[in-house]
Amino acid sequence: MSKSDCIACEQCGGELKLFKEDGTQGLKCAGCDWSVVTTHVADIKLDEVEYNVGCVGDYKNEVHIRVVSEVAGCNFLVSRKKLQCGHFLVFIGQAEEVLRVRNALVSVGLVCSISPDFYWG
Ligand SMILES: [Zn+2]
Repeated sequence: MSKSDCIACEQCGGELKLFKEDGTQGLKCAGCDWSVVTTHVADIKLDEVEYNVGCVGDYKNEVHIRVVSEVAGCNFLVSRKKLQCGHFLVFIGQAEEVLRVRNALVSVGLVCSISPDFYWG
């Protein structure tokens, strides 16, 4: 392996270890305190967790029904029925999509819950 293939510390040439905490991740040197944190925007693309998005809305509210229909990919009547049942699972996906979906739901007044804990946006 050539030297350029190794990821080594810029300061001391020591071994870098991957760390992940509270929605940030990056590389930390084992030998000194040098570390680099990947940016928030690039980071979300590295998040491979599959999130469950649940929501609660008003089945009499046409805007709520239309957004649910769009997000869940089902028709108007099915969406209304889902809303009628109370809290339901509307979407399963990865961080970037989940962020978009959550914003769409929240912007029209639906209440969202995401599991596991969602740190983005
Ligand atoms: Zn170092």
